[in-house]
Amino acid sequence: MKSLNFGDHIEITTKNQSLKGIYINSPKKDVIILKKNSGYNMGVNKKDIKKIKVVKKASKAKKVKGKGSIKTNKKLPNITILKIGGTIVSKLDYSTGAVSAKITAEELLENIPELRKIANINYKDIASIMSESMRFSHYNLIAKEIQKEIKKNKNLKGIIIPHGTDTLHYTSSALSFMLENINIPIILVGSQRSSDRGSSDSFINLTCAAQFIAKTDFKGVAICMHEDISDDTCLILPGTKTNKIHTSRRDAFKSINTQPIARVDYFKNKIDFLTKNYNKFYDESKKINTKYFKDNLKVGILKSHSNIHPENISAFKNYKGLILEGTGLGHFPTKSFDPLSKVNEKNRKEIERLIKKNCVVILTSQCTYGRVNMNIYTPGRELIELGIVPGKDMTTETAFIKLAFLLSNYKKEQVKSLFKENLRGEISERILPHEFVDY
Ligand code: ASP
Repeated sequence: MKSLNFGDHIEITTKNQSLKGIYINSPKKDVIILKKNSGYNMGVNKKDIKKIKVVKKASKAKKVKGKGSIKTNKKLPNITILKIGGTIVSKLDYSTGAVSAKITAEELLENIPELRKIANINYKDIASIMSESMRFSHYNLIAKEIQKEIKKNKNLKGIIIPHGTDTLHYTSSALSFMLENINIPIILVGSQRSSDRGSSDSFINLTCAAQFIAKTDFKGVAICMHEDISDDTCLILPGTKTNKIHTSRRDAFKSINTQPIARVDYFKNKIDFLTKNYNKFYDESKKINTKYFKDNLKVGILKSHSNIHPENISAFKNYKGLILEGTGLGHFPTKSFDPLSKVNEKNRKEIERLIKKNCVVILTSQCTYGRVNMNIYTPGRELIELGIVPGKDMTTETAFIKLAFLLSNYKKEQVKSLFKENLRGEISERILPHEFVDY
């Protein structure tokens, strides 16, 4: 068989068909993998191949050993990839049959030759973790690495963070609050199918993130994921107003109570901004102001449900902050309406006890869209009188991260007043009718 180099444009002829694409590395010796124009990878068994023609040799990409960089062209912008983990850096472990976060940033990049045409890439492996296991200390670690990269590389155009999808939106919120006055785009990217699968969304998501960084004046933290089930476009979604609302679809991420920032057309390499209201400014006279999380801070989330018991609430007695994820407009069962609901009064007493012990209690809604309004019904007003702070239109996840961030850095009274302010685009003053999920 012909000796092929990664990135060669080839044409394969088998008994039944002729296939064109870019040759990329294969995890199996007896299979050749082609990256097709659609962005999908396709495996062809070597024994079925009759002829291989190299249509165009790969452009020589120089890998500077040990330094973790792939340089192609001095005229291209510089992007750093900081790998954290998740499905996007996972592959099937044939010994166990399970998928694990084993791919290094270097291996990931080797399979995306498109990136070399967009930017010079530096890469670093920071962690190999599934995102459901992340802790506040990981946010601190990522923020420190971002700082280092910016300091080291004066011409850095942006940073891409491959990350698990389960808590991608928690991390994007955390970094949004931590990195005040950030002067470049920081784009978190996940995928719902692991990168060793032909149907993986990772290549297109990463390429769109790079296309966006190369062309944008946006400054801040955002997420880049598939817009819909086609492979044509990705969306750039706001760091503090996005949720994962589907377990497995590739377009699982939606902006909540606001517009996405931009659409990236993968094939046309074209960016369309969907809002004028995105951050492009930073104060050159000030440095990036990074504040961190207290590693062992205890902040929790309690989802309201029918038949909730006072013990559910008292479990948080040593916590500094608690998000009550109420129902509907912002309700929590603290009132008795008849003898059958009398136990709810004990719930109220437990909340009162937490607040007296200096726990900051916030109320959000378990409805994904819309705003908490605790003034409409009497029980809601009574919750405000108890000292509960309404979470406005923030998602529960962002409210949780914001509360933990504020408690890590400010005194209690300041935490309560800052919580109500819009610090990083997490609160929309108005929600427009079309800012609702649309299938
Ligand atoms: N559990 C994985 C994670 O969040 C799922 C994924 O990456 O899509 O790390």
